[in-house]
Parts: sequence; C-alpha cells; structure tokens
Amino acid sequence: MAQLTLKNINKVYPNGFHAVHDFNLEIKDGEFICLVGSSGCGKSTTLRMIAGLEDITAGEFFIDGKLANQMSSRERGIAMVFQSYALYPHLTVAENLGFGLTLEGIDADIIDEKVQATAKILGLTDYLDRFPRNLSGGQCQRVAVGRALIRKVRIFLMDEPLSNLDAKQRVTMRSEIKQIHRSVGATTIYVTHDQTEAMTMSDRIVVMDKGRIQQVGTPFELYFYPKNLFVAGFIGEPPMNFIRGTVAGGIFSAGEMRFDLSPVVKDVNALEGRKVVFAFRPEAIETENKGLSYEIDSRVELCELLGDTTNVYANTGEINMILKVNPHKAPAMGSDFKFYVPHKAAYVFDAETEQIVENDVERR
Ligand code: ADP
Ligand code: MG
Repeated sequence: MAQLTLKNINKVYPNGFHAVHDFNLEIKDGEFICLVGSSGCGKSTTLRMIAGLEDITAGEFFIDGKLANQMSSRERGIAMVFQSYALYPHLTVAENLGFGLTLEGIDADIIDEKVQATAKILGLTDYLDRFPRNLSGGQCQRVAVGRALIRKVRIFLMDEPLSNLDAKQRVTMRSEIKQIHRSVGATTIYVTHDQTEAMTMSDRIVVMDKGRIQQVGTPFELYFYPKNLFVAGFIGEPPMNFIRGTVAGGIFSAGEMRFDLSPVVKDVNALEGRKVVFAFRPEAIETENKGLSYEIDSRVELCELLGDTTNVYANTGEINMILKVNPHKAPAMGSDFKFYVPHKAAYVFDAETEQIVENDVERR
C-alpha cells in the first residue's frame, strides 16, 4: 500500500497544449480517490502521469516519500484498468486472469492458486473455463479488474472502467469495486465523468475543470459546501438552481424576487452593488413554511414523476427552476406553486469571481 503526493504537477503535450495546471494532492494510504470532471478536463492525463505512462512536464510525484517521476510503472507498483477492457478473445477467463503472471514466468501452480483466489473475490469461479464472448459486459469488466487485482499491487488506477456497461450493471459493479477496495485495501484512484459514481464510491473527490483542480473534499463536503459555481453545478442531479441578480441595501433582486441576504452571508455590505448568484438545490425546498426560509412564488410548467420523487419545472417570470417534490404533494401543471428555500440551503456566489461568498451557515 502506498501514500502518494502530487506537487505542482503540470502536463504540457508536445503540441504545446497545457492539459494539467499545478495539480497538488496528498493521497492517503489505502484511500479511494475519484477524479471527476467533464470530458477533456485532464483526468486521464493526470492518471497516466501517476501510472508512468505519460511524462510529467513539471512538478514532483512521490510514492511513500520517494520521488517517483522517473520510475517505471512496475517500480511504482501500479495496476491499471481501462475503459476498453480488451480481454484476449481466444483465452478463457482463467487464462485471461493469469496472463500477466504467465508472462512473468511464475509457476503454473502458483498462478492457478492466485487465479482461484481472484476469481473468488470477483464471483467468477463458475466462469473460469468460459471465453469472453460468452460473458456479459459486467462479467468481462470483472475479469479486467481481476487481471489488475491478481498482481498484488500497492496502487490501483481505473480510468472510466464502467462506461461501457449499461446503467444496471454500472450500479452493481460500483458496489463490487467498493467491496474489493475494502478487502484489498490498495490506494485507488478512479477516474470518471459521472458525478454519481464519484459521490457513491469515494473517500474523497477531486473535481477538475479545464486542467485545474476546482475542489477536493469528501462527497459530503462537495455536496453541502461547494466552493465555487463549477462544483455547485457539477455535483448533484438535477443540478443546483442558479438565479442571477444584484444586491442593493442587503437585498438580492432578480425579476420579481427580493431576498434579504443577511442570514446567509457574513458581510452583506461587502456585496453592495455586486452581481451575485443565488442558488439552492432542487431537493432542498420545502412546501410548508417552517420559518427561517425564503418564500418563492412560481408557476408550474411541467412535472415528471420519477417514482420516489417528482421533478417540477417551474418559473417566476423569466427565471426557470427545477424542484424535487414528494409525488404526493406535487402541484398540477399550470398551477401556482409557493415553496420555501430554508436559509441553511441557500448559497450565494459572486457572479464575477464565481466563488462562494463568505458565510457561516451550518447546512445540517
Ligand atoms: P479527460 O480524461 O478528462 O477526458 P484527457 O486527460 O484525456 O481528458 O485530455 C485533456 C486534454 O488534453 C484534452 O483537451 C485532450 O484533447 C488533450 N490531450 C490528450 N492527449 C493529448 C496528446 N497526446 N496531445 C495533445 N493533447 C492531448
Ligand atoms: Mg479520459
């Protein structure tokens, strides 16, 4: 197992493209870290630098305190699972699992033992004689994970390993990978563009945008305490509602909306005349007035019953919002809908810097 340190890591590709800017992160021994962000934000580049598959242009990478920039993947003690798991079609599951060990010239008996043990962890024992074409997508991905797992490594890297699977298989594999991590304990870095995957699997999440870290934190911290508009909008589904307006005399105004911001920011005077974004999550609203909240009058455009919840698309004048409502209390389409945003669920961002405005709101 291993503790990793990334210090001012940069990647500039030979064509001059600066893909990763000043990446700083300490990864604890045995931690499960997700790198999350939209396509092209630099996740795979970062992972490949950690793996030793891509040169680090500038900065220092340490494994257990030892400078590792120049180490080979093998010296780093790394195994990697890719999105395209590319099993050998002419080899059985057992042969696919043991292939790397065979190449290393390890005894057949020992390989067999390890294949059996790995198959057991992954629930592949009954499939060892099958060929990949006779497996489901989820089972193939499990073999791919097994191939990495069989080599007792200190660091486990996964790059969007579930994106070729259907939604149901993804959910199953998600918890399987977590369980494997729990039993194996290797430091794991997992790349995904899917915030739900990141939220459900990680000890900590690194949110990236345009080659830069936007925020590092536990799923809880990112969800309740986003530092900027990007993280606030990226984490959570449907996304947080953003209402753009201005502040005068401590009052936020946008269209017909008027909110006293003093309960939700530290220094309301500092916002005088500024453009801000008033924000709240669709699931944070209440349909009854329990006090300490903002009241919003809206008109319902559309309702989508999802089963456990109803997504309500509503507007106040030109301002569009999405609200999550208990299906039994959902308003009718076209009706007026008054709802409440508790102060503890309201966020104010500076529209220019896109950073959260200083506050001491306890969000529990
Ligand atoms: P992600 O995995 O987050 O989708 P990548 O790390 O693959 O993103 O890529 C980050 C950026 O670097 C993208 O804009 C991509 O086009 C660019 N990039 C990736 N590989 C190369 C390369 N070999 N040469 C030049 N640019 C590259
Ligand atoms: Mg990628």
